[in-house]
Amino acid sequence: MPHVITQSCCNDGSCVFACPVNCIHPSPDEPGYATSEMLYIDPVACVDCGACVSACPVGAIVPDSKLDLKQLPFVEINASFYPERPAGVKLPPTSKLAAVLPAAAVSAQHEPLTVAIVGSGPAAMYAADELLVQQNVRVNIFEKLPTPYGLVRAGVAPDHQHTKQVTRLFDRVTADRRFGFFLNVEIGNHLSHAELLQHHHAVLYAVGAPNDRRLNIEGMGLPGTGTATELVAWINGHPEYSSLPVDLSHERVVIVGNGNVALDVARVLTADPDELARTDIADHALKAFEKSAVREVVIAARRGPAHSAFTLPELIGLTATAEVVLDAEDHRLVQQDLATVSDALTRNKLEILHALGDSSSPASGPRIRLAYQLTPRRILGEAHATGVEFDVSGTDEVRRIDAGLVLTSIGYRGKAIRDLPFDESAAVVPNEEGRVIDPETGRPVVGAYVAGWIKRGPTGFIGTNKSDSLQTIRALVADFNEGRLTAPVAKPAALRKLVAQRQPAVVDSAGWRAIDAAEIARGGEDGRPRVKFTDVADMLAVAATAPQPPTRGRRLLARLRR
Ligand code: NAP
Repeated sequence: MPHVITQSCCNDGSCVFACPVNCIHPSPDEPGYATSEMLYIDPVACVDCGACVSACPVGAIVPDSKLDLKQLPFVEINASFYPERPAGVKLPPTSKLAAVLPAAAVSAQHEPLTVAIVGSGPAAMYAADELLVQQNVRVNIFEKLPTPYGLVRAGVAPDHQHTKQVTRLFDRVTADRRFGFFLNVEIGNHLSHAELLQHHHAVLYAVGAPNDRRLNIEGMGLPGTGTATELVAWINGHPEYSSLPVDLSHERVVIVGNGNVALDVARVLTADPDELARTDIADHALKAFEKSAVREVVIAARRGPAHSAFTLPELIGLTATAEVVLDAEDHRLVQQDLATVSDALTRNKLEILHALGDSSSPASGPRIRLAYQLTPRRILGEAHATGVEFDVSGTDEVRRIDAGLVLTSIGYRGKAIRDLPFDESAAVVPNEEGRVIDPETGRPVVGAYVAGWIKRGPTGFIGTNKSDSLQTIRALVADFNEGRLTAPVAKPAALRKLVAQRQPAVVDSAGWRAIDAAEIARGGEDGRPRVKFTDVADMLAVAATAPQPPTRGRRLLARLRR
């Protein structure tokens, strides 16, 4: 029985390197890897050893005999990535093993390489992992919240618990004795870039793209308007969004843009609250959803069905869990696209859209309507949003859709980092393979690096950051080995002292473990994976109860006593 990769594939490629017969593609060294929506197992070449299952950090790989109903479409999706062959015929072997990208080997002749990483999301954690596979390295992570893991904690939808399993991998990284957490510490506020460089050879920024792209049309900003990413942060209990006003008293919500974030939000807005109650959704969001009047979420895209921004795995997941419909004219657009589009992936999406029900049929519960060719003109309403007015592409028609909540979901946007150059148009830090480049001189800024969305823009999946971070770490380590980095002037203990002076409420690894354990315990009472703290003061109170590792003096005393 071959194995099958399913919806929660994170694209980090760990399975590729674990596979003894090289039957998972595209591998990170192959063209198409960076833009692939998921990875695929060749069912003919798979020897069913299960090595990929253990390697996958998000539990996305399942033997085909154990797939549940919702996962069955992935059998065909995995197989269709490979050319059709007569039964049992294998592809010509390229190699027994996928080409592993060479590790970033830290030269042994130097003092330990010390790296500060700013941010603690997937790009940061993959970078730390890549560094700590070497002997001669120390890594400190600085994060402005008291809790780590960035969008895995605050961005992944609560009904995608599989995806959140990647934190187990991150927990292993943080358990390394050469790793230090400085949580609740904001770089640019408590400490500067220059101060970090006094204590480290290099500073790597993996701060993501914290802002939303904004839609500048009349009426945005009215009560009842907002962005999908803010709503996701609210749903996930991000402390800066826990008091976001979210009006669910109207029966329709409109989301502008149809990427995976829009799908996540629509799915959660129409989900059964009893299902959500089994997840780690923030309590305030769960309470609001229990009272929600929302009966329909319209996801409005400005282009046609063939240009849908959501990915095929997410569309399959959506249609398996929610009632999704199209208007008759959108069904016609799907048919038109099916007649002209030849690309297999897009055709797969179109076939699924084609099979969806019609919006004229009665709804059995809250449902999602995918709508196309609608460019937003203005938000309707005076004191509160009452709907959206759209131009219908290719016609003179103006269409109005009533709604009490209008969310834009048109992508994230990177934010300038103090003391580093910034490319305003691309909203990234200018860089070459992760080395920050000064646009004035065209030369690298010594000791400054980037990884993740602030390096390449807000695209890809959690695991896309693994090869992205590896590229940056290889550049950083090469610079260290070549003596291009400046050695830190201060001893490690001086860093702890400085941070404690600037931010006495710093949370270390023990503090985070205490918060983590307390949240899991709170969840256990109700059979939930965790109940999150959404208030920084509560997090800090729990972190303060963490047992502190003994100081050097106390360790010495204990040894003498023994
Ligand atoms: P996205 O995939 O880039 O989608 C943005 C959407 O906004 C597109 O439909 C785009 O339409 C539309 N848009 C952009 N500007 C617009 C404008 N001025 N007016 C109207 N529509 C506009 O962004 P996202 O959904 O925020 O996702 C970001 C990344 O995170 C993606 O790589 C996504 O796959 C990933 N992600 C993955 C998951 C998952 O795997 N479960 C979940 C969440 C996010 P056009 O195409 O016409 O420009």
